[in-house]
Amino acid sequence: MLELAPGVRQLAGFPRNKINVYVVEDVLVDAGTVAARRRILRETRGLNLRATVVTHAHPDHFGSSRAVCTKLDLPLWAGALDASSVESGKAVTGPGRLSRLLGKYKMAPGHRVDRLLKEGDEVAGFTVLDVPGHTPGHIALWREADRVLICGDVFFNLRRLAQPPGILTWSQERNRESMRRLSDLRPRLVLFGHGKPATYGPSDRMAF
Ligand SMILES: [Zn+2]
Repeated sequence: MLELAPGVRQLAGFPRNKINVYVVEDVLVDAGTVAARRRILRETRGLNLRATVVTHAHPDHFGSSRAVCTKLDLPLWAGALDASSVESGKAVTGPGRLSRLLGKYKMAPGHRVDRLLKEGDEVAGFTVLDVPGHTPGHIALWREADRVLICGDVFFNLRRLAQPPGILTWSQERNRESMRRLSDLRPRLVLFGHGKPATYGPSDRMAF
């Protein structure tokens, strides 16, 4: 596991930096796909986790939530407007026909959400930000003291910094607003759902 900032670690992941899972203090942030459950349990062994958070209701973020919560007896926290999708295991998708079809299928094991997160809540020293768009209840985690941002899928950082794929995004327009909001925070370190962490100097801006 890699320490990226005080108390903020990234699980090794496979392939590296493709589907990211973080630990912030004693809280697991996102839980990969359903196939990642054993690796997550192995890598977090001995950490004494207190809770698990999902940034949004997509199956590559809550895929192993049920397995981890059940095995370690942990509560699951999620953005209020995404909770019903996390509980049903169905992904929130975009407005097109194909997207709507995708949204009918159960994509990952659902699990009860124990705490509905909303703007301003505190999670392990980070502040919850409501950043709707990719999904209605997408949240980001922001620690102003050292300007660390965990942004989920508001941005993708795979080949370059970009907006998430339209077909998987509930409202591209709302997501663009959330991108601008997060970029205006002037983060120093940004941790993505997909892609390598990015660092910025005080006068840099996230360019997208
Ligand atoms: Zn997503």
